[in-house]
Amino acid sequence: MANQADMQEMIELFEAELRLCRLDSSQKLAVLSEGENLKDYAEAFLRAGDNLGAETAHVHLASANTAGADAYLGDLSGNPLTNNPAALAILKEADLVIDLVFLLFSAEQIEIQRAGTRMLLVVEPFEILKRLFPTEAMRRRVEAGERRMQAARTLRFTNRAGTDVVYELEQLDGPPPRCILTEYGYTETPGRWDHWPSGFLASTGTATGVEGRVVMDAGDLILPQKEVVQTPIAFTIRDGYITGIDGGADARRLAEYMESFDDPRAFAVSHIGWGLNEDAKWDATLPGICMDGRAYYGNVLFSTGPNTEFGGDNDTACHLDLPMKNCSLWLDNDIIVRDGEVIPEDLRARGH
Ligand code: FE
Repeated sequence: MANQADMQEMIELFEAELRLCRLDSSQKLAVLSEGENLKDYAEAFLRAGDNLGAETAHVHLASANTAGADAYLGDLSGNPLTNNPAALAILKEADLVIDLVFLLFSAEQIEIQRAGTRMLLVVEPFEILKRLFPTEAMRRRVEAGERRMQAARTLRFTNRAGTDVVYELEQLDGPPPRCILTEYGYTETPGRWDHWPSGFLASTGTATGVEGRVVMDAGDLILPQKEVVQTPIAFTIRDGYITGIDGGADARRLAEYMESFDDPRAFAVSHIGWGLNEDAKWDATLPGICMDGRAYYGNVLFSTGPNTEFGGDNDTACHLDLPMKNCSLWLDNDIIVRDGEVIPEDLRARGH
């Protein structure tokens, strides 16, 4: 729990974040929290909302989950809003929901967004929130990527370990969740979700339109496990599904993990995109859920499992985010990332 001085710093940072989200005195802010988790964040967000003159409400759910967001990331099959229509109603009434629980991938989150409520997920440790505080410049670069993704029909990525895979891109241009996923760390747009901290974008292949091989190299990351690949893991992909996982002990362990869900849809290929946050670190030992790895500048974020965030119907509980370094990525014939370096001028961070 934060002491007095820390609490003041936290309120100031959260107030700056709420300003980026354009919260004002005409709006309602709802903070969703659970059990003892992130109690200091809940208090600081409510006080920051007060400072901006917003109407505030705290939706605090009793819960035995002491692992916080980690528990939901490892198994997406339930969340504390399921069977709680009263709490859901308050959240849908709000203009902005701060989610300190982890509703991502839930039907409840989509219902809240459809009500026009914008949502911000905040679960990372305070030091990481501070270091990766969002900027308007990063938003512009992420949105430039979104326009490029929207205009493209195919995405291909490769690496020196043997990856060569092509995604026939789903044409996503509707309201959420039928849109390209942009994450720049704040949200002022009704119905739009974001996550502080972040700095990347992602789309998805059509249901059967992903073909090829993805070979994770030593040093690449496995999330949510926060493991570093020691020996290459090779995924064979046919018609949008992983049909083989080959390699050494890492490959076997990952295959066993995916099989443990006893759900063939766990092997679907999910979102694909690249990272644009030049302040993110490549370090699986960071505390929290390692948004750094997902947003790392010039990575390719390969993922497996659900696609409900993109309007699809795969709601499997098994989701892997697999950030890979030193890849090359093309949208149609345009080079976007070459050996881990972001190429187009409109996507590049200053000094990179
Ligand atoms: Fe993901």
